Amino acid sequence: MKLHEYQAKDIFGKSGIPVPNGQLVTAPDQATKAVQIINGPPWVIKAQVHAGGRGKGGGVKVAHYPYEVVTATETLLGKPLVTKQTGPDGVIVNQVLIEEGIEIDREFYLSMVVDRASARPTMVFSQAGGMEIEEVAAVSPELILKEHIDPAAGWMPHQARNLIYALDPVPSPGAIKTLISVMGNVYKVFMTLDCSMVEINPLVTTMTGSAVALDAKLIIDDNALFRQKELLQLDDPREKEPLELMAEKYDLNYIRLDGNIGAMVNGAGLAMATMDVIKLAGAEPANFLDVGGGASEEMITKGFEIILEDRRVKAILINIFGGILRCDVLARGVLAAAKKTDIRVPLIVRLEGTNVDEGRKILGNSGLRFLVAKDIAEAAELVAKQV
Ligand code: ADP
Ligand code: MG
Repeated sequence: MKLHEYQAKDIFGKSGIPVPNGQLVTAPDQATKAVQIINGPPWVIKAQVHAGGRGKGGGVKVAHYPYEVVTATETLLGKPLVTKQTGPDGVIVNQVLIEEGIEIDREFYLSMVVDRASARPTMVFSQAGGMEIEEVAAVSPELILKEHIDPAAGWMPHQARNLIYALDPVPSPGAIKTLISVMGNVYKVFMTLDCSMVEINPLVTTMTGSAVALDAKLIIDDNALFRQKELLQLDDPREKEPLELMAEKYDLNYIRLDGNIGAMVNGAGLAMATMDVIKLAGAEPANFLDVGGGASEEMITKGFEIILEDRRVKAILINIFGGILRCDVLARGVLAAAKKTDIRVPLIVRLEGTNVDEGRKILGNSGLRFLVAKDIAEAAELVAKQV
């Protein structure tokens, strides 16, 4: 679960990580009031969307007069913002954060994630702050510093010193002190809120030698939400892809992609393999959909409906290996969905495994038009020919 910048900064503020004073607004007239409470000029007006790259996409504006704060808010609110991370259609800005403008001396990058290779929480720090970290990693990887954390020992002060004293030039004593404290608190937030990521880009030091988090990204591990119930209210469904939201409701693993071949598969591994063969056959998958091993008829119906709902889909491939999910259950689910919506695109079915004969019979007698493939390679070739 992703949090908005203002929500993450609220948590930071309560956790001893300094953030700029700010106020969330949802209408331009609120901006008039906000500007009176917040230190400025300058003020910074920031679109609150679950996507990065806002600065370059025009989602972060600087204002020097109160009226500019209001116009900047007006320009952002209710309109789509396109950044490198949103896709070409952009996302609608529903909320805007108005903040005091901080005078920046140096910009740093600080994040905490679980490093897969070492299977440990890892602090990532770089003096190339404010830039996209992927770009830094590609162009100057030597500027990215890491500290792996032994979960039994926790974050140790010497690890903070390892990161900070590697900077060139070394920051002022005051800045060092706040950076050390920010690092320790980032670790605490990461652990206590079951985060999969905490990212501050940029974390800045000011002329007066204090450190401030100018940006904040916080992702909570979905698998831990059962014990982070008070965080659930921070979820913002408006930020989600509508089809993904629908899938979430029915416990389906669905991710929308850019291609036009809809695919319904059981098992994440088979779903990945199916996407691979679709690509191998020269086409592009429109989605990843793993209906799971124990999918019910209702889940199959919903999964199929979601694929049909996607207007870009030009052909559908159903690739099921019946195990715990029996082929007859799949066939009934598909029929139930087909009754509700007309299937306007070619359908290719490849079924194997438990109750496969019954599944084929149900589909065969249904009056539904579909092509049968004998194996996964043929299925992919058939489906790629349809577009
Ligand atoms: P994004 O990462 O989505 O582009 P950021 O929050 O990092 O958005 O903002 C982009 C840039 O705007 C930052 O790198 C920083 O230079 C500047 N900025 C953001 N907030 C402030 C602020 N409160 N005061 C001064 N500059 C800011
Ligand atoms: Mg940023």
